Amino acid sequence: MINRRQWLYGVGLAGAGTQLGWASPASPDAKPTPIPLELSQYEPKSMLQVHESKVDRSKFPLIDFHTHISVAAKSEKGVELTPDRQYLGTPQELLAVMDRKNIQTMVNLTGGYEKGLAEAVTKYDRAHPGRFLTFTEPSYSRLKEANYPKLQAQAIEQAHTDGARGLKILKTLGLYLRENITSGTLVKIDDPRFDPMWDACGQFNMPVAIHISDPVAFFTPTDRFNERFEELNNHPDWSFYGADFPSNAALIEARNRVMARHPKTQFVTLHFGNFSENLQNVGENLDRYPNMHVDMAARIGELGRQPYTSKKFFDKYQDRILFATDATPHGDEFPQQVFNDQLYEIYYRFLETEDEYFDYAPAKIPPQGRWRIYGINLPDAILRKVYHDNAARLLRV
Ligand SMILES: [Zn+2]
Repeated sequence: MINRRQWLYGVGLAGAGTQLGWASPASPDAKPTPIPLELSQYEPKSMLQVHESKVDRSKFPLIDFHTHISVAAKSEKGVELTPDRQYLGTPQELLAVMDRKNIQTMVNLTGGYEKGLAEAVTKYDRAHPGRFLTFTEPSYSRLKEANYPKLQAQAIEQAHTDGARGLKILKTLGLYLRENITSGTLVKIDDPRFDPMWDACGQFNMPVAIHISDPVAFFTPTDRFNERFEELNNHPDWSFYGADFPSNAALIEARNRVMARHPKTQFVTLHFGNFSENLQNVGENLDRYPNMHVDMAARIGELGRQPYTSKKFFDKYQDRILFATDATPHGDEFPQQVFNDQLYEIYYRFLETEDEYFDYAPAKIPPQGRWRIYGINLPDAILRKVYHDNAARLLRV
């Protein structure tokens, strides 16, 4: 059976509808009027019907090497200015999720220094042995003191005595810290004033968890070609394009010089060496620097969109990769790192299944770029190392 429109075409009368007084159907030749749609309103639902696994618990007990349970009570222009801590979650609420999700230990990287650090260690590590480990941070507000290099090395020793298990470097170093703390020229990652600090970490077997740089897209213009346009548009202060910011490559090179200069210090380069868009580069650096390791925090969006490359990488560098999430209790504003059950289930699904095309964050819109990810289904021997053994070796637990 043919409908009226097909019939009109058939007899060469198409387009004659109006003249004939009929309601005209849209002609295939007429210009369509697209429905206006704000990018932020676009929430396409995948029509793919593929297997969905629910992984409630990790296959092996794990150490989450990268979390933020406490933060500095005061910072200015990206520089922490006080040892005082703010706590984002109580041990009790964290332990409930940890027990459900098979998380043996959470490493709180932002433990601060001096009395703030001692307080964090008391509240978490000492109150719940084996469940929490705390890292210290440099006290950049002392940078201008003449004997800062020595003071900072001594502060590492004191932090070690107070119970710190490692040193955390935020991207403050390289992107925010300036000669006059919050003004002047940027201080370089390989500034020699920090050399005694790096050495002290090696001396006290404290791994350095170092975050430098950011996703490469943050160093390019926030425009229609930027694959993280929405994220940068929502957080313009995350862009390091222009001004006096160094390039991503320059930051990575400065970090590499630090690792080369301090071979006895172990470095965990966070967020997959801060170059998860280029795993070849990360691999070359791991080959070059035996004291380099990577954590996978907040980068499964990158790893999971290149599943074949990732799987090969996890196989080749299985002794150098640490499980990590960047989890932040009540960090709902950044779903890719909010500490909750769903976040961990996504990580487990990525590592343990062959599921296809699923969300990398518990969010309606993928927050770090509009794509979805694929599981890499690692074998048990690699899972054990990534979930636990590699971190346990570095942390000496
Ligand atoms: Zn972090």
